[in-house]
Amino acid sequence: MKVLKFGGTSVGSPENMRAVMDLVTDGEKKIVVLSAMSGTTNALVEISSYLHKKNKDTALIFIGKLEQNYKQVVDELFTSDENKKKGLQVVQEAFDTIKSFTSGAFNLVGENTILAQGEIISTNLVTLLMNENGYNTKLLPALDFMKIDEDKAADLVFIRQNIASVMETVGDADYYITQGFICRDAENEINNLQRGGSDYTASLIGAAIDADEIQIWTDIDGFHNNDPRYVENTKKIDQLSFNEAAELAFFGAKILHPQTVLPARVQNIPVRLKNTMNPTDSGTLITLESDGMGIKAVAAKDGITAIKIRSGRMLNAYGFLSKVFKIFEDFRTPIDMISTSEVAVSLTIDDTRNLDSIKEELANFGTVIIDQDMTIVCIVGDIIQEEQGFAPKVFKALDGIPIRMISYGGSKHNISVLVPTDCKKQTLQSLSDNLLNG
Ligand code: ASP
Ligand code: MG
Repeated sequence: MKVLKFGGTSVGSPENMRAVMDLVTDGEKKIVVLSAMSGTTNALVEISSYLHKKNKDTALIFIGKLEQNYKQVVDELFTSDENKKKGLQVVQEAFDTIKSFTSGAFNLVGENTILAQGEIISTNLVTLLMNENGYNTKLLPALDFMKIDEDKAADLVFIRQNIASVMETVGDADYYITQGFICRDAENEINNLQRGGSDYTASLIGAAIDADEIQIWTDIDGFHNNDPRYVENTKKIDQLSFNEAAELAFFGAKILHPQTVLPARVQNIPVRLKNTMNPTDSGTLITLESDGMGIKAVAAKDGITAIKIRSGRMLNAYGFLSKVFKIFEDFRTPIDMISTSEVAVSLTIDDTRNLDSIKEELANFGTVIIDQDMTIVCIVGDIIQEEQGFAPKVFKALDGIPIRMISYGGSKHNISVLVPTDCKKQTLQSLSDNLLNG
């Protein structure tokens, strides 16, 4: 069985929902994972932030607007009065849930419950639509099987056991629909897999049912070899290894949620990125093997902060780095890039919530210099196996660009450089001209 995931744009209008129905109903049994209609999760985040600020009146205005949009969607989506009524019931229930949080105290559980309504509505509406059109379709409620543990890591054992029993309970169907993004946590409260997490849902389900293939459908025809928003003449990549795809997703290629690759790689399930607007294109296929050496792609991740700690005490000393890392561990702040010299260490983070405290602790070791608004540009491919001359080629392409850090050799799939965000476009274009299209 295959698992197919469709993002917010793919279900963003009644017309697009019908297109998804046409795409998935090819007679092959499958599980279809859906995001919320595009814009909905953002709107729900905004509503929640008004509720956190105790601004109930503004929250209610936004809730009213969103509800009105959904009523319109229902009206356009269904043909029969009976299904219009059922669709309105779906919308009503979700909005009653949302409104129930507009009185009394508001907390994270409330917010997560509100955020879950987008996926709950889209999946219920598409299930109804497919049944109205004569396709035997059943809904698998993700909150009955999708789970994260105390560390917010997916509980694959639980998911495997429970998706099987949920499928048994709902009974046989030709097509199964389920919600991306949403899950329960260790306290059994409604939670989620973070923004963009529907891709991750699809890959977890794929691993749980040992799927033949996991397909992520979006509105672009796969991974491109550079960021099409900044660089002209980018090309689609036909094939990537799990490791290459993971590096690209992590370092900014927005098309795939970074955690998606992991469950698929563990079970060796191919992941295919497909385009709803161009369904016959084969997209990008991600498998265990890479198809050859050389540089495949370049991606960029903004919002990076570089921290340099310069200390005489580092000279010939052991245990210095571990003390530095311990501070980041204590503040639960992941480090992305590191580079060291005999008297200084530079590293990057993107989560700056505890930056002030981290800086204060680091100051006990030496001088601390912080640079914000930096971008990691990551060059991905089967790099180190390329015979020779790889590094000079990269350096030549980076001629004239102020590089703050370089990381090379950590994995054979990636070289990363840190540049000021102002220089991102120039860096991407130059790498594209010299390495990809040269
Ligand atoms: N609807 C969620 C979001 O907008 C999850 C997803 O679309 O992947 O982040
Ligand atoms: Mg997405």
